[in-house]
Amino acid sequence: MSVSDSKSTDSEQVNFGYQKVSATEKTERVGEVFRAVADRYDVMNDIMSLGSHRIFKRMVLHMSGVREGGQVLDLAGGTGDMAALFADAVGTNGHVVLADLNEDMMRVGRDRLLNRGLTQIEFCRTPAEALPFADEQFDCACVSFGLRNFTDKDQALRELLRVLKPDAALLVLEFSKPVDPLLDGAYKAFQALWPPIGRALVGDAQPYQYLVDSIRVHPDQKALGQMFADAGFVNVEYHNLLGGIAAIHRGCKPTPDNSANSQP
Ligand code: SAM
Repeated sequence: MSVSDSKSTDSEQVNFGYQKVSATEKTERVGEVFRAVADRYDVMNDIMSLGSHRIFKRMVLHMSGVREGGQVLDLAGGTGDMAALFADAVGTNGHVVLADLNEDMMRVGRDRLLNRGLTQIEFCRTPAEALPFADEQFDCACVSFGLRNFTDKDQALRELLRVLKPDAALLVLEFSKPVDPLLDGAYKAFQALWPPIGRALVGDAQPYQYLVDSIRVHPDQKALGQMFADAGFVNVEYHNLLGGIAAIHRGCKPTPDNSANSQP
């Protein structure tokens, strides 16, 4: 199933950075971005986040409560940072699925993770909006720096809810909105460097201009919390990282006992 088969139809316009494009065009253009950066993705991530993404990802693992033997979905898993952390946590009795739409990102991830001997990770090429997994399959799901790229975020959140077991948690790590205007200004100045750095190191500024623009049009902390609730998650909470430059949102699939607590 392709993204354009899912709920978002081609007559609806979606954001590609600041541009409004059809769902099909967004999926294609996001695919081009990650094809272009796949081989340098990890090194650029370290440079542009000054290494902070590694700490954020460890915080997601900590907040996930994932245990030995667990079944975990790392959606938009890309080159496999979160999948590797989860694989260590679930051990050889557990199972981690790294799902992503982009074959080039997964190729880089597959090579890295196999080199580390993490054989309990399964790779699955799929759009987030139409997951090929059974209902109530996973003990935990995570989307790390993936959600803002999705063609239909609401549909992806509903799919994530469907594949989680009752009471299981979804964690979304994503760029967000700095709470202090001074920090926001400084951060924008820093972001202005990303496209020229991309041109210098990867030979192409465009993917990094998309990165900046996609961060700026992404919903803020409260709006994303509301999207979790609208999709049906309960006990929704978020934690700002570096003053809101990024945030971790967490929500659970309802059980008969906690289904009333849906407000973020
Ligand atoms: N999770 C990794 C990390 O934290 O480093 C990779 C994040 S990378 C910024 C975003 C990933 O989202 C890419 O690998 C891209 O292919 C994937 N992606 C974008 N749109 C997608 C979609 N509609 N369905 C599934 N994956 C998608």
